[in-house]
Amino acid sequence: MTSPTTIDTVIVGAGFAGLYMLHRLRNQNTGAVILEAGGGIGGTWYWNRYPGARVDIESQEYGYSFSSALDEEWRWSERYAPQSEILSYLEHVAKKFDLKRDIRFNTRVTAAHWNEQAKRWHVITDKGDNFAARALIMATGCLSIPKDPDFPGVGDFQGKSYFTSRWPHEEVNFTGQNVAVIGTGSSAVQSIPVIAKQAKHLTVFQRTPNYTVPAHNHAADPAIEELWKLNRPRFRSQALANNSGVRQIDPQDRLLSATPPNEVEQIFEERWKRGGFAVLGGFADTGIDESSNKVAHEFFARKIKSIVKDPKVADLLTPKTYPVGTKRLCVDIGYWETYNRPNVTLIDVSKAPIERITKSGIRTASGEHAFDVIVYAIGFDAMTGALTKIDLVGKNGLKIKDKWAYGPKTYLGLTIAGFPNLFTITGPQSPSVLTNMPPSIEHHVDWIARALSDLDARKKQTLEATEAAEEAWIAHVNELGAMTLMAKANSWYMGANIPGKPRTFLPYVGGVPAYRQKCAEVVANGYEGFVLG
Ligand code: NAP
Repeated sequence: MTSPTTIDTVIVGAGFAGLYMLHRLRNQNTGAVILEAGGGIGGTWYWNRYPGARVDIESQEYGYSFSSALDEEWRWSERYAPQSEILSYLEHVAKKFDLKRDIRFNTRVTAAHWNEQAKRWHVITDKGDNFAARALIMATGCLSIPKDPDFPGVGDFQGKSYFTSRWPHEEVNFTGQNVAVIGTGSSAVQSIPVIAKQAKHLTVFQRTPNYTVPAHNHAADPAIEELWKLNRPRFRSQALANNSGVRQIDPQDRLLSATPPNEVEQIFEERWKRGGFAVLGGFADTGIDESSNKVAHEFFARKIKSIVKDPKVADLLTPKTYPVGTKRLCVDIGYWETYNRPNVTLIDVSKAPIERITKSGIRTASGEHAFDVIVYAIGFDAMTGALTKIDLVGKNGLKIKDKWAYGPKTYLGLTIAGFPNLFTITGPQSPSVLTNMPPSIEHHVDWIARALSDLDARKKQTLEATEAAEEAWIAHVNELGAMTLMAKANSWYMGANIPGKPRTFLPYVGGVPAYRQKCAEVVANGYEGFVLG
């Protein structure tokens, strides 16, 4: 192996997080390189190019806030931007801030070991690169490692196979094809209506139905654009003042349990008409009180029944095994309506599971089905997968895989005891996936940049979380998680979608304001919970 390139900081990943981290570090004259496994920038928006892929937060709220010049010059074309437009936005950002010169593409980090003597991370890539870095910043995303299809015979299929999480760059044409989609999470909910319009026949294999709300997408509205232009800072502060960091949710303090039923119905109906996640914000108790949640469930069940014409199909599409909001709510464009099409069939594999993929199609416990194409929309090893996949070794040979054998252990979802100068942008046990990602990313990036410059100012080399601070944080995360209904679902939030993954609630549910306050207090108290070495 060649001798290492010495650099101040290695950033892993060139999505929203890595790009802003690089820009931020450059502004404080900290040397940095991004190592990116993909052939281009964009992270999640680079890989997930499946038909129908688009953001589920309104475009005006999505995106960076760090540059008012960027705000001024960028225009979104739809209420919810499609994947291609978000990628164009990030290309625009990379060009504007001249970021690509410090990004190495097609370069996957395979190992990173802490060298206690040198006080540096030794980072190795699949290209044979070799860096010695003071800080290692994991901008590796929360949903970036696809779940492996756990069906026997995947390689036997003689038709075409696609994964929503690794969609080809060239156009995929389903015209005249007999297509299967496995899965009914957000990726499937977005792609199914689009594929159904093109395919000869589409068969959806559903194990667990999902709650989904109409996006009510439309072309950008000049009046809304103008409103945002005039009020952007105020709207952003409003967003950060609510737990999810999403203004569109417009959360209310009122309790469903204390609201008369006809008013409850009106509130749900009005929010359903607004579209998207607003439906979750009408009441403060649906996420914590089972009987209030049941009322929300009944509203969804009635909606499904009113849209899907075949009562048996409507019943199959109605979630029954977990509370509303405990799996990530999907935002759709014509999802349930798609099941009224004559060329779409729904197959329930909850009781008769997929047994194997065969040469010609899919065999379930109740029969075999032939296809030209199989689309796997089966999800990700969320939140921890991108970190545990790397041979990440901290002090005294401590491996992340061993440290996290029973679930992730972090301080603030930003740092890990035993792993000095390692930072995880929107890591497990931070609000991350329960919030609007770009502002949460910016918050972490700003915190990390400040910590690195504070280390310099104090003439210190290392910042490391103490085990006591970490344990206290984990206890707090778990205590808050236990106050919600989240544990009642077999969701990726719980790690339950990956066989063998420890069952633990992965994100921090205490909300954006409380979390930001805690992170600020830690700094104000001289990096409380850290040892500066
Ligand atoms: P997902 O929500 O984990 O859904 C995976 C689907 O595959 C589930 O329906 C799952 O069924 C099914 N599945 C997995 N293994 C299976 C098996 N062996 N047999 C049958 N079915 C199987 O994954 P996703 O749809 O890719 O979405 C993941 C997350 O990414 C979302 O929750 C969201 O946060 C994000 N996302 C966001 C957007 C957006 O912003 N617009 C779009 C797409 C994704 P079970 O439920 O029974 O496990």
